[in-house]
Amino acid sequence: MQSNPSKKIIVIGGGIAGLSLAAAMRDWAEVTVIEREPHLGYHASGRSAALFTETYGNRLVRALTLASRQAIVEGGFVAHQRGALHVGWKGDDAAIDRLAGELQALVPSVRRLSAAELHALVPVIAIEATCGGVYEPDAVDVDTGKMLAACASALKASGGTIRTGEEVRAISALGDGLRVETSAGAHTADIVVNAAGAWVDVVAGMAGLPGLGLRPKRRTAFLFDPPAATDIAGWPLVVDLHEQFYFKPDAGRLIGSLADETDSEPCDAYPEDIDVAIAVDRIEQATSMRIGRPSTPWAGLRTFAPDRTPVAGFDPRLPGFFWLGGQGGYGFQVSLTLARLSSALMRGEPVPEDVAALGVTAAALAPDRFLTRSATP
Ligand SMILES: Cc1cc2nc3c(=O)[nH]c(=O)nc-3n(C[C@H](O)[C@H](O)[C@H](O)COP(=O)(O)OP(=O)(O)OC[C@H]3O[C@@H](n4cnc5c(N)ncnc54)[C@H](O)[C@@H]3O)c2cc1C
Repeated sequence: MQSNPSKKIIVIGGGIAGLSLAAAMRDWAEVTVIEREPHLGYHASGRSAALFTETYGNRLVRALTLASRQAIVEGGFVAHQRGALHVGWKGDDAAIDRLAGELQALVPSVRRLSAAELHALVPVIAIEATCGGVYEPDAVDVDTGKMLAACASALKASGGTIRTGEEVRAISALGDGLRVETSAGAHTADIVVNAAGAWVDVVAGMAGLPGLGLRPKRRTAFLFDPPAATDIAGWPLVVDLHEQFYFKPDAGRLIGSLADETDSEPCDAYPEDIDVAIAVDRIEQATSMRIGRPSTPWAGLRTFAPDRTPVAGFDPRLPGFFWLGGQGGYGFQVSLTLARLSSALMRGEPVPEDVAALGVTAAALAPDRFLTRSATP
């Protein structure tokens, strides 16, 4: 079905943020996505651990995630009922009890596991080493490739356009719209969405706007084989209480990560050998697994606003310039709600009722929150 658009919108960035929003606007706007790389999802969105967990992140991130579950399930994007397990060690009892209480209040299915129960779930963690953990059974693996592809095809089916291999280089005000100059020419639009992931502040600069202080942080991951004759299919994502490492099953192998957050310039991130080596050492110290030689290491940039809440809203300094950034380590789990919410804001509508009921306000996501703060001495 072709849309009957009244607005022309350019979305900069072909990751999950830009594509999900583009798809959400397809029925009321003429949308063009511009992506610098030759294919979609090349950067953060092609490098994630693909988990959906309702207990991760700050209060607003958790609310945006809770509000996304239905769309993730109904869209057919659940790849596996994974579960997530926070592991405490000797001496962590009080912290684990506290975490269990906090997370149960949010997600009632969360359970405090004893050391024996934890060992039964993930036998490579010795009973003597752990004080038990906090288990979120309803965390799921998301099919991230399917999500990206579904957003792209929904957009195209409605007459939207995706331009890959085209880099945005300058943005300027043009009467009542905006002009976007790219490596392939120039475009005009009523609204320009800045969904450039690690480059959001750079893209703001192209419009003559100082950035909001969104910082890319590198995270490293790799694959390794499970112990011989061990059935890992039912293992959850296992994350150290102190976020020193995590591992999770992935198509018969395990993904390991240092859970690192190293400051980085926006770039095509690559893994440092030392980060892989430290992660291997920590996982080996905490479990009976001997990883040996990990394979296929990769790294990606998770981009955070200073308060670690995503940014969605119009920039008051340049009419028509809309921010959608700072998805941090939660981009897939929050994207469908952020897209729906952003689409509503662009039409001058309030935050959708179900999202507002979870305590999410437009002000909490607006770029203004950083502009006001920096303007205050
Ligand atoms: C190791 C790792 C594990 C993760 N695990 C999870 C997880 O388990 N669950 C979860 O929900 N999230 C996870 N994340 C986070 C998630 O991947 C990100 O939050 C999400 O992908 C961000 O999407 P994005 O569209 O904002 O950015 P990106 O995917 O980086 O997309 C931005 C795009 O903008 C383009 N661009 C930039 N500048 C320009 C320009 N000038 N012109 C044109 N195009 C431009 C870039 O080329 C890029 O493709 C993880 C991330 C990493 C790195």
